[in-house]
Amino acid sequence: MTDRPQETHQVVVVGAGPAGLLLAAELRLAGVGTVVLERHAKRPDFCRGFNLNARALDLLARRGLDRRFVDEGWQVGHAAFSGLPVTLNLAGTATDHPFSLGIPQTRVEEVLEEHAAKSGADIRRGHAFEGLDQDDDGVTVHVNAGYRIRAEYVVGCDGGRSGVRKSAGIAFPGTASTRFTLLGDVELAEEGALPFGVTGPVFTIPRPGYVRIVTEDREPPADRDEPVTLDRFQAAVDDALGRHVELRAPRWLTRFGNAARQAEEYVKGRVLLAGDAAHIHPPAGAIGVNVALDDAFNLGWKLAATVGGNAPDGLLASYHDERHAVGVDLLASTRAQVVLGEPDDRLAPLIELLTRVANHPGGNRAFTETLTGLDTRYPMDSCQEHPHPWLGRLAPDVPLSTDEGEVTLASLLASGRGVLVDSSEDRAFLAQAESWQDRLTLVGASGLAPSAVLVRPDGHTAWAAHGEPSKQDSADLERALHRWHGAGRHTAPASVTRQRNVER
Ligand SMILES: Cc1cc2nc3c(=O)[nH]c(=O)nc-3n(C[C@H](O)[C@H](O)[C@H](O)COP(=O)(O)OP(=O)(O)OC[C@H]3O[C@@H](n4cnc5c(N)ncnc54)[C@H](O)[C@@H]3O)c2cc1C
Repeated sequence: MTDRPQETHQVVVVGAGPAGLLLAAELRLAGVGTVVLERHAKRPDFCRGFNLNARALDLLARRGLDRRFVDEGWQVGHAAFSGLPVTLNLAGTATDHPFSLGIPQTRVEEVLEEHAAKSGADIRRGHAFEGLDQDDDGVTVHVNAGYRIRAEYVVGCDGGRSGVRKSAGIAFPGTASTRFTLLGDVELAEEGALPFGVTGPVFTIPRPGYVRIVTEDREPPADRDEPVTLDRFQAAVDDALGRHVELRAPRWLTRFGNAARQAEEYVKGRVLLAGDAAHIHPPAGAIGVNVALDDAFNLGWKLAATVGGNAPDGLLASYHDERHAVGVDLLASTRAQVVLGEPDDRLAPLIELLTRVANHPGGNRAFTETLTGLDTRYPMDSCQEHPHPWLGRLAPDVPLSTDEGEVTLASLLASGRGVLVDSSEDRAFLAQAESWQDRLTLVGASGLAPSAVLVRPDGHTAWAAHGEPSKQDSADLERALHRWHGAGRHTAPASVTRQRNVER
């Protein structure tokens, strides 16, 4: 393979699923040369997921992308949680999008692919990753189309069976599947022969022009990858129902298990993982696409700063620290849903107790925020005895009055840069951050509840001052600026400190 022609690029992203496409767009926003390798020449016809959750929409809104999806999806005011007979309400939770959005995953990918391509990502369909070699200076990626790419970093967004993960020797510990589920996207020969919803052990969901039927695979073959035929699926459904319901015109027949595994390292040298490549979990809760987008959003700006030479020590490692911890919670919550669905009478008191908690308004909110990731709070340094409640969390999309006019906090993040908003009387924090103006948008504004706030490019609050500005606030800000944006650069004093968007 070494005699193959070689190209040089800054970052190679393997996989054009939700994680890879959003990551590529984020890297391009910061001007990073990005190639996406996707083994499929065209997107498969079948559709796995059908939703974007509140957290994913909040993140997409930080780049002005949420409307693209909201305008064509359908809104449901609650979150999915299998295993408990409760409705998890999104009203009153910490989100700017208090709903789950019904939208096919294939459509989400189409929009993200268009966005990534427009941003300048070089998306190569039909080009499969075959292997990699990494050294201290870079990574060589072997591509099936007969060439190599030398890159500074490679990100495996290549799904649960990630070849990148395997090639980099990253361990993937967890639990193997104990149960298997058959899924069929089919038509009913006789319309209405099977009601929508749960019919004994069969779950039927209406889809445009077809139905999705899922049922347990009671006798999975030794080779779990053996293709599922219509005959096999028909027999499993009939067996589960105890009667014959004729199925036809299969669009997608598959089998999936309830394995839960997580990569031990999300960052290994110059190889990184995001999305399903970093974690697989049972599909309960319908959250995989959303977590994949969340990983990509956390990683994009950090990798871009690293490639651009602006990253402080430890910035890339913080991707592992922050997202691995979220992955641990993800596996726990999806596995819990599977356990609660087990046919085991001993679970009845637990289900009863959790149902009571989830039906309590405070409990309902806590459940909903935990399961959707709305409670995500990354660890941030603060010497304050009582840090501002926004610290570490996604800063809400509050309206702001700047000298340039009315804006919202989320809209200030559209360029992919971090933002410092100062509503203190003397705007002293803006003056303090002058040396970071090549990396930050500095905004003087009124109408902000904390007196000033530093928001990372991914929308999470890195620092917030409340009350009268103090020396402590200033020391905390200095630390936060260095921790997330590296050393300041001395530039000529600027005359405008109201709102500044300096081009890269
Ligand atoms: C039946 C089912 C239903 C689901 N329902 C939902 C739902 O309702 N909501 C939800 O949020 N999630 C759902 N999920 C989960 C969701 O589909 C995944 O979590 C999500 O697609 C992960 O995104 P990703 O970008 O990490 O990986 P993927 O979407 O798997 O993308 C990986 C990409 O990498 C490519 N690739 C793989 N190997 C190579 C290679 N060697 N070279 C180049 N390219 C390669 C693949 O072709 C693919 O395009 C469901 C999953 C299943 C199986």
